[in-house]
Amino acid sequence: MTPESVHYKRIVVKLGTSVLTGGARQLDRARMVELTRQCAELYHQGHDIIVCSSGAIAAGRAHLGFPKLPPTIVSKQLFAAVGQIRIMLMWEHFFDIYGIRVGQILLTRADVENRQRYLNARDTFSALLEHRIVPVVNENDAVATEEIKVGDNDNLSALVATLCSAELLLILTDQPGLFTADPRVDPAAQLIPEVHRIDEVLRAQAGGTSTGLGVGGMVTKLSAANMARHAGIDVVIAAGQEPNVILRAARGEAVGTRFVALESRPESRKRWILAGPKPVGIVVVDDGAMKALCERGRSLLPAGIVEIEGKFERGDTVTIIDQQRHELARGLTAYGSSDLRQIAGAKSHEIAERLGYTYGDEAIHRNNLVILAD
Ligand code: GLU
Repeated sequence: MTPESVHYKRIVVKLGTSVLTGGARQLDRARMVELTRQCAELYHQGHDIIVCSSGAIAAGRAHLGFPKLPPTIVSKQLFAAVGQIRIMLMWEHFFDIYGIRVGQILLTRADVENRQRYLNARDTFSALLEHRIVPVVNENDAVATEEIKVGDNDNLSALVATLCSAELLLILTDQPGLFTADPRVDPAAQLIPEVHRIDEVLRAQAGGTSTGLGVGGMVTKLSAANMARHAGIDVVIAAGQEPNVILRAARGEAVGTRFVALESRPESRKRWILAGPKPVGIVVVDDGAMKALCERGRSLLPAGIVEIEGKFERGDTVTIIDQQRHELARGLTAYGSSDLRQIAGAKSHEIAERLGYTYGDEAIHRNNLVILAD
């Protein structure tokens, strides 16, 4: 890829806690100003900028003077409630230096789980961007519990990029990108500049790295990157402290690791399937079905299903995996789990016979299916 070949109009900049604190226990305002300066430059060139900012919990903890609270969800919620205001005060102040207005959006998974709410959230982003207001997003940590949260801002930023139809997701962290091995233990480790395929080798290379205060390690970043590139979005993972990193990534220059989007951008409904609802069950398929889905763009028929895991209803999102347990696709199932168990392996014409009714030949219709395998 050459810098001339890219133009990213809409960019999501994800700033991890480690970037905002610089590894210290509190937010580093000088760094935040520098990151704002770069965002502002792009903004004034006409780009749409969306900031996904972590750091609420770290800011809350610091603002309260590091009290010793039990390590519970509610303590985190308390820190987030205090810290979210701190962090927004700073973003508001720093962007104001450059004459830019910001708006806060706090999301949880529950806010995008159903398609209507997803579209409502999308409208809010569109309205802000149309009025040249920079949305600053975080998970709504003050009320988020395990069941309703996305859980990490890497996946949250990929979700937001998908929701807003961004062209670039820039994930800034405290590491220069993805390496062939862990650079802290292996001096021969090399930065991977460009990724076209996320496979097992790459996943193994990403394994085991984590960044002190934040939540997501490289494996989490890889899963977020995978979602985004299947939604037609390029992703760059790079170090926040790299000089002019936001500007360089936006120009398509070589910085960090760039994940190249799959060519086709799925239609809106498929993007929602990708980003919105959390899969509630697993459908294991055989090799024939795997090829039909991934290579020929077909629907999933009951005949190709080997096993069902979990309990789900018709219309729920399920993840489709092969027998080696690689995720192949996600989709909205036409049959609930108990029906699917009865028709797994059956020919489509046997569905009515086995169940006494039918919702159609397909277990998951290709219109309700998004491929996640490369
Ligand atoms: N939402 C969390 C916070 O603002 C951060 C989650 C993450 O870094 O992945 O503190």
